[in-house]
Amino acid sequence: MDPVTFLAIAAVTIVAIVTFRYVMACWIRPFATCQKCHGKRYLPNRIGRGTHDCRRCNGTGLRLRWGRHAYNFARRLHNDGTR
Ligand SMILES: [Zn+2]
Repeated sequence: MDPVTFLAIAAVTIVAIVTFRYVMACWIRPFATCQKCHGKRYLPNRIGRGTHDCRRCNGTGLRLRWGRHAYNFARRLHNDGTR
């Protein structure tokens, strides 16, 4: 087999595997841990003591994955268009 062809097939296969894994992650676990508060739901105040709810996740500690956002948008668009 030609080395260039082998490298092309390997690159396409790796991209397909990574994409499949991300799609499965979006399907099985649509929510991921919030990266700002690391799932703790609150952040320490900058001035003084105490904490406040994380604004990025609204105090849930979770965020919706980007792929699930896209899926929800496409699903909503399809439902609105076919009603
Ligand atoms: Zn958060």
